[in-house]
Amino acid sequence: MNPVAARRALITGIAGQDGSYLAEQLVDGGYAVHGIVRPTTSLANLTGVRDRITLHEGDLADPGTIRRALGESAPDEIYHLAAPTFVPDSWLAPAGTLEAIVVASADLLAAVRELTPSARVVVAGSREIFGSPVSSPQDESTPCHPATPYGVAKLAVHQLVGLLRDRHDLHLSSAILFNHESVRRPARFVTRKVTRAAAAISLGLEDELVLGDLDAVRDWSAAADIMVGLRLMAGHDDPGDLVLASGVGHSVGDLVAAAFAGVGLDPAVHLRVDERLRRPAEPAAPVGDPTRARERLGWSVTTSFEDLIGEMVRADLAALR
Ligand code: GDP
Repeated sequence: MNPVAARRALITGIAGQDGSYLAEQLVDGGYAVHGIVRPTTSLANLTGVRDRITLHEGDLADPGTIRRALGESAPDEIYHLAAPTFVPDSWLAPAGTLEAIVVASADLLAAVRELTPSARVVVAGSREIFGSPVSSPQDESTPCHPATPYGVAKLAVHQLVGLLRDRHDLHLSSAILFNHESVRRPARFVTRKVTRAAAAISLGLEDELVLGDLDAVRDWSAAADIMVGLRLMAGHDDPGDLVLASGVGHSVGDLVAAAFAGVGLDPAVHLRVDERLRRPAEPAAPVGDPTRARERLGWSVTTSFEDLIGEMVRADLAALR
């Protein structure tokens, strides 16, 4: 009997938080996993799978990179995750943001159409496309009014995915991702900033945590759960756009309470608010409605907010000790 050929996946942004969890899941699922990394990218997140994946060096700003990687990996599934992720930076460099997100994605989709038209593509989108949403929670039909250059760029890609899917009959899907976190989240994101500070203060290494808007709300999920959703989107015979979110909003204040409770600290003693850390365009209530993903894919998050934050605090304690 011939062995069944492994399915092949190509991940852009494989070394990031999301890409590394996705790579682990696909390797576990028996896939031949390929990823694109810049020569300077840290591979720390890939430690667990480094010897079981194939990396292609290059930069998505160069269309030759994606074409070469498509040719060498011949993927059945493509996960396009590579993009700048820290939203406030997009105010500093709108043109660079559009180039890195829109132009790179347009080049990728054109190359897919030409070289691997039967591949299934899932593009990581963002709830930043809704900006300050007109209604909450947001679903796939909520009107888009992006409020940041990052959101404008993500909306262009989201719409391009839909247009090219219809026009060329390609298996393209856009995942509208709400915030998703993990122990691999860089510390400039508020979850990791808070869990790291809770760990550091409880160990006596620091004594205060300085934050901006404590009332800002986010729909935070575990990154690994969200990656399961992306895989199911690729696995579904009908491509389409889906919100992947927990469906539950928490404030930054809730986040601090959850993290500090885990180490027995009182936020009132250690927390200071600095108005300079407030954002200029803060969405009203960015909470996702994952109903369609549940109905279509049977997907929902499995890790609670409290468990996610608890796990991040424990990892930070272990790292700082
Ligand atoms: P984002 O949703 O992609 O912007 O993810 P972040 O983790 O950067 O921010 C989440 C929310 O936390 C935003 O509403 C911020 O305004 C709020 N926030 C409050 N204090 C801070 C802080 O000190 N750092 C960051 N990054 N966010 C903060």
